[in-house]
Amino acid sequence: MPALVVAGNWKMNTTISDAVALAAGIRDGAASAQGVDDVELVLCPPFVCLAAVRQAVEGSAVKVGAQNMHFQDSGAFTGEVSPGMLQGLCDYVILGHSERRQLFGENDEAVNSKIKAAQAAGLKPILCVGESLAHREAGSASDIISGQVRAGLEGVSDCSGLIVAYEPIWAIGTGQAATPETAAEIMGGAIFETLRNLFSAGADDISLLYGGSVNGGNAGEFAAQDCVHGALVGGASLQAEQFLQVAVAVAAAKD
Ligand code: PEP
Repeated sequence: MPALVVAGNWKMNTTISDAVALAAGIRDGAASAQGVDDVELVLCPPFVCLAAVRQAVEGSAVKVGAQNMHFQDSGAFTGEVSPGMLQGLCDYVILGHSERRQLFGENDEAVNSKIKAAQAAGLKPILCVGESLAHREAGSASDIISGQVRAGLEGVSDCSGLIVAYEPIWAIGTGQAATPETAAEIMGGAIFETLRNLFSAGADDISLLYGGSVNGGNAGEFAAQDCVHGALVGGASLQAEQFLQVAVAVAAAKD
């Protein structure tokens, strides 16, 4: 089975001191939370909090990730952060989140360049894919998702360390999570089949996360699906206790 992973996307929340307090709460709570030893916890704070969060979790098993990254090494890209700048600050990087795609015009081509640049820099990409409500209602969710996976990973030959998160746009921040069956249909279907086509047996080791209104109450139902290996958590990752409840539920479902 692929590694179990619960990642928290803090989005544009937390000052540096908020971030340190949250990271410390998760670090301390994780030490005694049931089964959480078996789950890779990844905290993804804003860029400006990465160094402080890294320091706060040092010596623990808790990992750090960035929420985005440019694909160029350096240059005239005002406001951007390069892969090399993240080296040593984090192990993971979320790429292609739907908010990046929708609000900042990020397309599949850019996501693909970012995945390659992250891997070249030794960062583990968390590739996010997800369909809109309009696409779901039109019956094209599977086609959209396989297209995003294929385009995002075009020319990528090494899938070690790669994570794919299925985050239906209509479920993000709405309190309306997908049903576990809907998630499993896409994750075990469009996503896994596309990964199999791209990476053959290597696909069997890729962790697939569900994201979209995940909390401690529903995480276990998602993780009970064979093709779900954890969660990408937004709102519920901003409270240490709630985030750890998700991890406990994932661990229990896979026990
Ligand atoms: C997200 O933005 O990655 C996310 C899953 O958000 P939420 O859990 O708040 O729906």
